[in-house]
Amino acid sequence: MASRDVFEDALERLERIGKEAGIDPQVIAALQQPRAVLTASVPLRMHDGSTRYVTAYRCRYNDALGPTKGGIRFHPDVTRSEVQALALWMTLKCAVVGIPYGGAKGGAAVDPKELTPMELERLSRGYMRAMADFVGPEIDIPAPDVYTNARIMGWMADEYETIHRVKAPGVITGKPIALGGSLGRDEATGRGAYLVIRRYAERTGMDPTKTRVAIQGFGNAGYHVARLLQQDGYLIVAASDSKGAIYSPAGFDPESLQQRKLESRNLEGVYCAGSVCELVEHQRITNEELLELDVDLLVPAALEGVIHEGNAPRIRAKTIAEVANGPIESSADEILHDRGIVVLPDVLVNAGGVTVSYFEWVQNRQGLAWTLAEVRNRLETIMNDAFDAMWNDIDEHRTARAAAYAVALRRIETAVLSGGDAAFFSNGGGH
Ligand code: NAD
Repeated sequence: MASRDVFEDALERLERIGKEAGIDPQVIAALQQPRAVLTASVPLRMHDGSTRYVTAYRCRYNDALGPTKGGIRFHPDVTRSEVQALALWMTLKCAVVGIPYGGAKGGAAVDPKELTPMELERLSRGYMRAMADFVGPEIDIPAPDVYTNARIMGWMADEYETIHRVKAPGVITGKPIALGGSLGRDEATGRGAYLVIRRYAERTGMDPTKTRVAIQGFGNAGYHVARLLQQDGYLIVAASDSKGAIYSPAGFDPESLQQRKLESRNLEGVYCAGSVCELVEHQRITNEELLELDVDLLVPAALEGVIHEGNAPRIRAKTIAEVANGPIESSADEILHDRGIVVLPDVLVNAGGVTVSYFEWVQNRQGLAWTLAEVRNRLETIMNDAFDAMWNDIDEHRTARAAAYAVALRRIETAVLSGGDAAFFSNGGGH
């Protein structure tokens, strides 16, 4: 579990890396707090007629590079601090891949698995009612995150359009295709991560067929990255969800795992139901054990703070690709670096999601619908360019994370300084 405040941790890392990279201290200071945060209590009428009040947040962190962008998370552990940290990382992420967005994030402290479909729809609409003047296609554009999906984005888009009496598909991304969603959005985060790992393998000579991979968090992002890696010959030896982990040195087939997970709703169902896991010898382990497995590539794809100074000395993977946001606390950065473990950072690795969200927004605003091949090709170009910009900035002192932050911070610095006082002092849209 995370051992310190996630936002404080994110700020400390930002300050340290920003200073090392020679970024203007005024720019770092401007990034030390969010521009605007809206907290709301969303009334939720339950199926038995009672009313619950759900605390919801939306944070527009910094809009120097464009309207702010970031997902909405429905999870019982959502806090203002977490939302702010995620919004800061979104600011850096959009800058790393060079798309014209600032960073934002939203969340509601609720366990959506406890809600009926009708309650979930009411909550999603209630969230958007609370935020309807705070978001907008040219102000702040939400998207899915942990435990939210295309269906929820569709309800939210509909609610926004009902309130404002306009058709505004560009207000939210990750929508169902029928409502203006983009082809390729569902796989985008996993595909982006796969493209980064592939580029890294090309640059370092990492041989896919000799690379054993453990995936923590076999959700949307984790599944797609596992599927694409396996197609290139990587061996997926472990996977987990919130209920536990499975490990097999012989390797799993991600497609079969996903199929079983969809049928039984968690990986645990895979252990004993007639699945591929019965065809290969496998062991049941904990999520903590998965992180410490003797593998070549570790892919944390669940929640933040899972690797910290407590377990960093026991991590045996040679490379970690951060598909989740913030899975490694800053206190572990140096320990991992000193032990020669390469960390491919979240702000690059999981940026495929926001990149295809950006494509969706561009298509919505132009009234176009791109083909899947078009989306994938454009994603590949952006991810490869971003990887190269980061890689060219690494030296013996600078980790991949520090290099990616430096690339992002220089772009934000240029925008902030070009904007002059307005960029320092504007409140990003009037709230
Ligand atoms: P998801 O809800 O589809 O999947 C999350 C997975 O994590 C589920 O399988 C869940 O069972 C598992 N999980 C939850 N708690 C866990 C725990 N304590 N230990 C192990 N596993 C646990 O979510 P997702 O969209 O795949 O997001 C996963 C991560 O990727 C998050 O950090 C998210 O912020 C990040 N991310 C997602 C996107 C996106 O477009 N979906 C984009 C960028 C970053």
